[in-house]
Amino acid sequence: MKTNVKEIFGSNVFNEATMKERLPKPAYKKMKATIDAGAELDPEVADIVAHEMKEWAIEKGATHFTHWFQPLTGITAEKHDAFIDPQSDGTTLLRFSGKELIKGEPDASSFPSGGLRATCEARGYTAWDCTSPAFIKETPHFTILCIPTAFCSYKGEALDKKTPLLRSMQALDVQAIRILRLFGNKTAQHVTTSVGPEQEYFLVDKEKYLKRKDLIFTGRTLFGAMPPKGQEMDDHYFGTIPERILGFMEKFNQEMWKLGISAKTQHNEVAPAQHEIAPIYDQNNVATDHNQLVMETAQRVADEVGLKCLLHEKPFAGINGSGKHNNWSMVTDEGENLMDPGKTPHENMQFLLFLAAVIRAVDEHADLLRLSASTPGNDHRLGANEAPPAIISIFLGEQLDDVVEQFVDAGEATSSLEGEEYVSGVHSLPHFKKDATDRNRTSPFAFTGNKFEFRMVGSTQSIADPNIILNTIVAEVLCDMADQLEEAEDFEMALHDMIKKTITDHKRVIFNGDGYSDEWVAEAEKRGLPNIKCMVDAIPALTTSTAISIFEKHGVYTEAELEARAEVMYETYSKTIHIEALTMIDMAKKQIIPSCIKYQTSLADSINTVKATGAAIDTSVQETLMSDVAANIKDAFAALKELEDVTAAAEKMDEGPDQGRYYHDVVFAAMDALRKPADKLEMLVAKEDWPFPSYGDLIFEV
Ligand code: ADP
Ligand code: MG
Repeated sequence: MKTNVKEIFGSNVFNEATMKERLPKPAYKKMKATIDAGAELDPEVADIVAHEMKEWAIEKGATHFTHWFQPLTGITAEKHDAFIDPQSDGTTLLRFSGKELIKGEPDASSFPSGGLRATCEARGYTAWDCTSPAFIKETPHFTILCIPTAFCSYKGEALDKKTPLLRSMQALDVQAIRILRLFGNKTAQHVTTSVGPEQEYFLVDKEKYLKRKDLIFTGRTLFGAMPPKGQEMDDHYFGTIPERILGFMEKFNQEMWKLGISAKTQHNEVAPAQHEIAPIYDQNNVATDHNQLVMETAQRVADEVGLKCLLHEKPFAGINGSGKHNNWSMVTDEGENLMDPGKTPHENMQFLLFLAAVIRAVDEHADLLRLSASTPGNDHRLGANEAPPAIISIFLGEQLDDVVEQFVDAGEATSSLEGEEYVSGVHSLPHFKKDATDRNRTSPFAFTGNKFEFRMVGSTQSIADPNIILNTIVAEVLCDMADQLEEAEDFEMALHDMIKKTITDHKRVIFNGDGYSDEWVAEAEKRGLPNIKCMVDAIPALTTSTAISIFEKHGVYTEAELEARAEVMYETYSKTIHIEALTMIDMAKKQIIPSCIKYQTSLADSINTVKATGAAIDTSVQETLMSDVAANIKDAFAALKELEDVTAAAEKMDEGPDQGRYYHDVVFAAMDALRKPADKLEMLVAKEDWPFPSYGDLIFEV
């Protein structure tokens, strides 16, 4: 199949080009000005835009529209409305008004709100975020116009991830502009954050997937012995992509391109059956919408081609998990990247101030950043002997580290290291200057040339989570810096002092070594850096007095909204572990133990049959196997009983921190205790008697 990328790219998006082509000139101009200013849309213009949008959508085959929003479940939600407007003569017109475009009232009271609204307070509004374009979602069975919206309660409290994200972008905009003005920039009107998320995922065969209740109900395997070969050969990484997977990728890319998602790079990841997709970065809110669509589209396309896409952070124990690298920078509306050090960073004082601000924000609010990457699934990665560690640190690289050191030592920097000549020892290979800095893959927060890459984020997460935090904590530091610098009598001197002091005070968070090593854990502890090991330990960061005061100050969250979010996080954690525990119980009771007993019976039958022949034949192998199986069934059964008891006890507890902790400390431990004998049994029982596909079947036979 030949794909005309130019033709399909953005074809399902009501983007600027489409608006320019279809809207009357004055309406287009007003619409564009509204988007650029991030302002509210004039109702008259809204009517015109809505009409054209509807005409366009109908041409594309849509019969319905939806206000597409992002509730606290982390996935997207939609309620479909047809364009129809029945007439008294029995026919219908097709209508879509400006009012319907900009405001919706989906009720949607069953989404988690963390107590922000009782079920009787059902009013919830969706409002169009016109800075993110409307698009057509096309599936084999349905075509619908989607309007990206924010979702708030009757009282205006955020019930979604979009609203606080937009608020945090505004907060950062205001403070960054203050700083730019101090440097004499009078022309930039806005600073936005650019985000490029790299998404990891696994693909497995659909038929095999459907035989595993754990994958169906929880997205990860709860049982599974290690196959003879894991990922130790590293032969999958960047390997030739198999035909079946290429087929998926081709379709996946086409669907993304139609949505205007600039899917750019794809490759096999470290683990067998693991892959990665990275689009080109975009404005923070658009990148967030796009990443939701990437996840949704990957799952849909995989299904269509007989595969299943696993987005879980840890689908397979003992095999690399999946994350999402959140590449982040600040850019002015004139296109200046504030995270770009230029060739001579030591001279770029504006860059150094922004850099110092990020360093301070990350150090002062490490607990919030850690929280922003906390999901039940990510607990299996962070701090659990897998990359990246749970300790927040920053990698700057040799060049910046050197500049920073000069500042700490002398109060100024006078030189920047340059990249050396690349030498391969082969005459025919090109010669070029290397980057001034190598990369460090083990750092959770790494400077990578002209952006920071936050690598802790979980693969299932909405990237709104980390970016709300990042934007807010950086805004807070910039605000404090601007407060001081605006008062300074001698700006140059105050600036130098501030950079020196900030870096000196927060140097402890900079670490350029191996983040996976045990030495780092000890060293970090000496430096007083927090090491928050699990989600339940991370949640309290959201409601500390510091957190409340900065979120309220910058208008990102009210205290009530923060309390609500903490409550939803505890609830999510407990429910996730609860479902996992019930799934394990079900699989152990109805599949594993009965299958083992069947196998045992076949061993017993074999012994009896052999003995019945009267020949003096040794049956000790069958007997040993039988007793091994019996011992493990016994262990599994006892662990199963224990898991049933503790799960029942957990369910009786009130929702909140105590229940979350109990699920983590007790239920989770009981799950582990059941898994051990069950995985041993998998190695003992004949393949044909094992009730579901093995790890080997799932990850090596895609
Ligand atoms: P890596 O550095 O991880 O090897 P890339 O350089 O390709 O990979 O970038 C990864 C992601 O970072 C891509 O989505 C890319 O568009 C994004 N990116 C590049 N520059 C910026 C920037 N200034 N701000 C935000 N994201 C960026
Ligand atoms: Mg990366």
